[in-house]
Amino acid sequence: MGMNIAIDGPAGAGKSTIAKRIAKELSFIYVDTGAMYRAMAYFFLQNHTDQADFGTACQDADITIKYENGEQVVYLNGENVNGVIRTEAVGNMASVSSANPQVRAKLVELQQKLAANADVVMDGRDIGTCVLPDAPVKVYLTASSKERARRRYEELSAKGVACDLAQIEADIIDRDHRDMTREISPLKQAEDAVLIDSSHMTIEEVTEAIIHLYKDVR
Ligand code: C5P
Repeated sequence: MGMNIAIDGPAGAGKSTIAKRIAKELSFIYVDTGAMYRAMAYFFLQNHTDQADFGTACQDADITIKYENGEQVVYLNGENVNGVIRTEAVGNMASVSSANPQVRAKLVELQQKLAANADVVMDGRDIGTCVLPDAPVKVYLTASSKERARRRYEELSAKGVACDLAQIEADIIDRDHRDMTREISPLKQAEDAVLIDSSHMTIEEVTEAIIHLYKDVR
């Protein structure tokens, strides 16, 4: 097991931005587990899979992770899907299909394999509670739903995507609710995780705070 850093939290808390920075600074590998659930959701959407069939159908989705030019690339049955999994539709579907036990078992196994072979910064919903329960650094990163919606709105607007702030916040609240109330590995703060509320913090401040935690336990 590497010297792993686990970051969990709700949608839009800034996990991936922060985790990427930490990985760069510490020369760790960044593992974006949400991208794996998104790839699986994309597979179900493409195939119009019925929710009742997620458990069996997921066995036909071969999800692999490669690192190309320092970036995580997700392959779904041999196809690079990085460019198609970032939509709101895929994110919302991911929060539905990720509640399926077979989907989780398959992806958790992949995540644990990645962490066994390298020092990783891994972000998701159940990293500290389930995937890497022995990680020496665990963070629960959150922010108010208003602030998370505002960040998402700015990100989409900057890309020229037309969107509605109130709708984004409603989707975020829905997604959090599903992620926090599902039966298997719900989103929650691990007992030994440090809570960071980034509502009034800059990206640099949060990054520094987590690197500080890492240096304390190293
Ligand atoms: O973080 P991201 O928005 O990409 O995640 C998409 C969805 O995947 C989440 O809403 C959640 O339902 C699911 N997920 C999960 N466990 C993880 C990472 C993501 O259930 N470790």
